[in-house]
Amino acid sequence: MTHAAADLIRQPARVLAAAICEGEVSSVEVTKAHLARIAEVDGQVHAFLQVTAEAALETAHLVDEKRGSGRKLGVLAGVPIAVKDVLTMRGVPTTCGSRILEGWRPPYDSTVVARLRAADMVILGKTNMDEFAMGSSTEHSAYGPTHNPWDLDRIPGGSGGGSAAALAAFEAPLAIGTDTGGSIRQPAAVTGTVGVKPTYGGVSRYGLVALASSLDQAGPCARSVMDAALLHSVIAGYDPRDSTSIDAPVPDVVAAATRADVRGLRIGLVKELSGEGYQPGVLQRFTEAVEILQGLGAEVVEVSCPNFDYALGAYYLILPSEASSNLARFDGMRYGLRVGDDGSNSVEQVMSLSREAGFGAEVKRRIMLGTYALSSGYYDAYYGQAQKVRTLITRDFNAAFAKADVLISPTTPTTAFKIGEKVDDPLAMYLNDIATIPVNLAGNCAMSLPVGLSPADHLPVGLQIMAPPMADDRLYLVGSALESALTDSWGHLLIEEVPNL
Ligand code: GLN
Repeated sequence: MTHAAADLIRQPARVLAAAICEGEVSSVEVTKAHLARIAEVDGQVHAFLQVTAEAALETAHLVDEKRGSGRKLGVLAGVPIAVKDVLTMRGVPTTCGSRILEGWRPPYDSTVVARLRAADMVILGKTNMDEFAMGSSTEHSAYGPTHNPWDLDRIPGGSGGGSAAALAAFEAPLAIGTDTGGSIRQPAAVTGTVGVKPTYGGVSRYGLVALASSLDQAGPCARSVMDAALLHSVIAGYDPRDSTSIDAPVPDVVAAATRADVRGLRIGLVKELSGEGYQPGVLQRFTEAVEILQGLGAEVVEVSCPNFDYALGAYYLILPSEASSNLARFDGMRYGLRVGDDGSNSVEQVMSLSREAGFGAEVKRRIMLGTYALSSGYYDAYYGQAQKVRTLITRDFNAAFAKADVLISPTTPTTAFKIGEKVDDPLAMYLNDIATIPVNLAGNCAMSLPVGLSPADHLPVGLQIMAPPMADDRLYLVGSALESALTDSWGHLLIEEVPNL
């Protein structure tokens, strides 16, 4: 590894961490290389809402000093990371991609951020996202869209498009995302990166601004399965500050990624999550990956999850219902934006004017949908029914996991679409998450990893691996095996090809 910035930004986090630990390169050098890359390309990509350059360099200096004095360093010490702007970080603006939080500086760190700091990682800044994590393209950010580094006219996925684009553009070697219905996995799929939604309760939600509390989960974003595993091991684990946090040992994801052996493993192909509605190029790469897994010694079986057909409908009742309640706290009184506070309006009017001006169209749409679904007279017919469907989906998973150790599907039906193509068509936008949503509803875990480029448009295709609750290690076992097989035949997917940048 040379110390040239162009070389440093292309290294895996694992390699950077080892080099920093050995004293081959300093954290300051690595951090400066990434800050320079951000300065060079982020005008075009717009992955970041906030770059905390000064604080990053300060942390990097401290890590280098700590190493110099021979003290023990954390895992991934000195390695830079980008954080989705939905997690609080003390003193740094947290907007959730919304005008309504403009100017708000949280007085505390989320647990995820606190754990990154405890592991001596260097936080580069906050990444762009769809407003309050509602969307699949990052076009619903109040601060303008993020562009996909593979083709700047295309979307990087959403809601965590900023984190995924930062990785694909080599602006950061690691990032944090959050996934309520696919917001880590879908951006990973369309940017050729790796993203993991951990088991619900596996990573603390303390300081994660809530979209739908029963679905939200933060997780690792990376350019390789091993890098994701290392980051997973840093952020996961019990937190008494989150009442839904699981008090049990974290599955050994790093050991699983190292083992990378699928011999004798049963892999279930979910019938309902491929075929109609999926692009031929996506299906072609998916099928090839399945054959590779078989070649590696896995046993592939077909499984059926008939209730998955109702997942999207149930999700778009449960999510808006919870969101309408969670977002009630943004009323112009406590955080960020306040409109009409000139003495001529009542408190109610100020609240209403602030919400009118502060929320975008998609957020308003979901608040109205959710309020309606929860209203008396409609509650049983909508919210109540959706909760029953949720139970059926969990039962489908249980039945499938009796036949297979992991399940697989394409992560998304299509590759990255053009900016503007679906932004005015909510249903078309929602359909991007058709394969990712069942996992959130059931609370188990899943990974998306790149399996090549679609022959039709030369854009990345993602494969999704799903595992039972608290069996996150299986994602890494299978993901790592598949990744190394693919890397053997195609070379590193991302390194040589990032057009336009
Ligand atoms: N795209 C989905 C939605 O709009 C998922 C969002 C998410 O996971 N945060 O709700």
